[in-house]
Amino acid sequence: MDEHRYIEYQNRKKIEYEKLCKRCGVCCGLRDRAPCEHLVIAAGGTYRCDIYEERFGIRKTVSGKEIKCVPIRSMLYKTWLGCSECAYTRSMNGYEKV
Ligand code: SF4
Ligand code: SF4
Repeated sequence: MDEHRYIEYQNRKKIEYEKLCKRCGVCCGLRDRAPCEHLVIAAGGTYRCDIYEERFGIRKTVSGKEIKCVPIRSMLYKTWLGCSECAYTRSMNGYEKV
């Protein structure tokens, strides 16, 4: 596979991976009393990050506590509040076909 085709392949895979997300907001603390201050309600009862493109790093919850925003792949083998609801966790565990 040449470099151009490889980059196209990577981009396609990235889009497919992003599409798995149900925009439920659980990984951003929706099940906690104080979710991330950047989590906002979107259309159709979903949630979105208002700084999505530059989200990684130290952020704050709505109560002012510091949290670290990391790629979801870093969380797939950990336990966190609501992790069993995440589409990525579910697909990894075979609960949901992708
Ligand atoms: S900064 Fe991270 S934790 Fe906060 S809403 Fe955005 S994606 Fe979620
Ligand atoms: S918990 Fe999983 S499915 Fe829900 S918004 Fe976060 S990454 Fe997407």
